Amino acid sequence: MSETLSNLAREERRFEPPADLAANANVKEEAYDRAASDNEAFWAEAAERLDWGQKWDQVLDWSNPPFAKWFVGATINAAVNCVDRHVEAGRGDKVALHWVGEPADDARDITYADLKGEVCRAANALTDLGVRKGDRVAIYMPMIPEVVVAMLACARLGAPHTVVFGGFSADALASRVIDCGAKVIITADGGYRRGAPSALKPAVDEAVSKVAADGGEGLVEKVLVVRRTGQDVSWNDSRDVWWHDVVDSASAEHEAEMHDSEHPLYVMYTSGTTGKPKGILHTTGGYLTGTSYTHWAVFDLKAETDVFWCTADVGWVTGHSYMVYGPLANGATQVMYEGTPDSPHKGRWWEIIAKYGVTIFYTAPTAIRTFMKWGDNFPADHDLSSIRLLGSVGESINPEAYIWYRENIGAGKAPIVDTWWQTETGQMMISPLPGVTAGKPGSAMKALPGISVDVVNDEAESVGNGNGGYLVIRQPWPAMLRTLWGDDQRFIDTYWSRWEGLYFAGDGAKLDDDGDIWLLGRVDDVMNVSGHRLSTTEIESALVSHPKVAEAAVVGAADEMTGQAVCAFVILRDTAGDGGADIVEELRKHVQKEIGAIAKPRQIMIVPELPKTRSGKIMRRLLKDVAEHREVGDVTTLADSTVMDMIKTKEGSSAASEE
Ligand code: ATP
Ligand code: MG
Repeated sequence: MSETLSNLAREERRFEPPADLAANANVKEEAYDRAASDNEAFWAEAAERLDWGQKWDQVLDWSNPPFAKWFVGATINAAVNCVDRHVEAGRGDKVALHWVGEPADDARDITYADLKGEVCRAANALTDLGVRKGDRVAIYMPMIPEVVVAMLACARLGAPHTVVFGGFSADALASRVIDCGAKVIITADGGYRRGAPSALKPAVDEAVSKVAADGGEGLVEKVLVVRRTGQDVSWNDSRDVWWHDVVDSASAEHEAEMHDSEHPLYVMYTSGTTGKPKGILHTTGGYLTGTSYTHWAVFDLKAETDVFWCTADVGWVTGHSYMVYGPLANGATQVMYEGTPDSPHKGRWWEIIAKYGVTIFYTAPTAIRTFMKWGDNFPADHDLSSIRLLGSVGESINPEAYIWYRENIGAGKAPIVDTWWQTETGQMMISPLPGVTAGKPGSAMKALPGISVDVVNDEAESVGNGNGGYLVIRQPWPAMLRTLWGDDQRFIDTYWSRWEGLYFAGDGAKLDDDGDIWLLGRVDDVMNVSGHRLSTTEIESALVSHPKVAEAAVVGAADEMTGQAVCAFVILRDTAGDGGADIVEELRKHVQKEIGAIAKPRQIMIVPELPKTRSGKIMRRLLKDVAEHREVGDVTTLADSTVMDMIKTKEGSSAASEE
């Protein structure tokens, strides 16, 4: 990927850390050197921020790569770190969660003392239902406080949870239950989405039948059901149990056992952007060290005064690391919101920020681009002056979206941390530190202290500044995945086989002349046009920088002349109408001007929507099928499967735009 073109860096926009933030930052410049000179000592110090039962004999055991062990010999309980220790330190009255339901006025404040009582009750109830240390528990719930309680109760017992996003189908739930062998499913009757109750329990019933039919007869012994919406549910008396019947009456006293540092904490199936989901295994001590340290360092968390809001659903790793484990281990006060950003109106998020005085806000580029599409007036109608720091995760943030976010949500002054990481990494890996590192729109900047990231060529040699290649990680890190659940071989093949001793992330990246990192999209998505390697991210960002464009997805389609040709799918901003008669030509020229003639799309389709996974990521492989006039592949992980029909209809009528 050494020839990757980029003129976006040429914009040379650079935001220095604000002086007040720099002066009071949790982490200073020296942390990079300290970590570089003694990585294990650095992470041991980060681990000291937690409460341990037994301390470790060894920080890292890397004698059997790629199987790492962190904090060997130590014992710890994640739930005790997230809840009990804050209560014991006299902070029981501090709000842990400002929970906001989707229906208006449906809100609850939950203190750390409340949370402790609930987690202990739920742990006792689960024990009564037969859950023992090591048993797996599937969680399929809406964004209600009980999902946090359920996760922490499992962690307390040492029963690894697997949270399945509530928007997934019965099939998806069933395959995950089978893969990890879950004994209990915790769910709810339903939740509120887009202004109406949506059901969850019927999908669980269907999933349990499927599990039985697929050879998992008797696997799921109990289904624990929270009453959220009050809708009718069918009931199996020997299997189903109401949460309020067993949890509310259980004792709020529960003696927590300390688990081995390497005891499994959870299995999280990746979102499936590229193929069959993988069951990523995270363990306890290292994971909690990595997530709590990065949450504190990257968001410069001042636990006494900050109000943190991560908008991710708990069904994704971001919800695990930066809504549950990281922030709660740090004793933070957070917002948790049940519904969609446009219920009942398109200013709902901004209303919530104003109401609770959110100071640190963490969301995804897909959401930011949606708000850009809706228009600036929605955030402008609310008082967002409490915001001091913004974060982004999930995809590269296009420079245009970065600037919009900073201007419209951050009042033109809040620093943005663009955080690169994966389900597999468990914790943030590349990000600016807001009081130390400058921000460049579109760049995730540099590896965090204690993390050794590199960009290499096919021969695993560092490419050096000014060049592109494959993103790799050279040293183990505390929250790294330990394996794929039940499949060590796939773990080795997927991540560790490309080059000896290097973790292959699957993403392309480029180092600019300052050595700062620009993520270029997935290696599988890189296009080869007349021998030139082009990055999807860069062409998409060039398109999004056009004032009429809200979102863009780019794929390489087979082309007789050039090998591959650039095909773009574009959503216009609400203010742009149909874009005008020459819109396609206008956009092609714009890309040519921004990047160069080689990147000029052969074909541009103006579409109403893009196919996205339920975590909001563009599924380019489906667009490639359209661009290559093929039958569209597996759409089961798509958030809205009708989107592909809309795009295919468009495709039939847009052949004229092809040259
Ligand atoms: P699957 O692995 O199942 O295909 P996925 O990779 O989308 O799904 P995640 O682990 O949620 O699942 O996402 C991690 C990926 O998201 C990264 O490998 C990268 O491609 C992308 N990503 C995350 N954060 C950033 C960021 N700040 N900048 C650029 N890309 C990012
Ligand atoms: Mg991935």
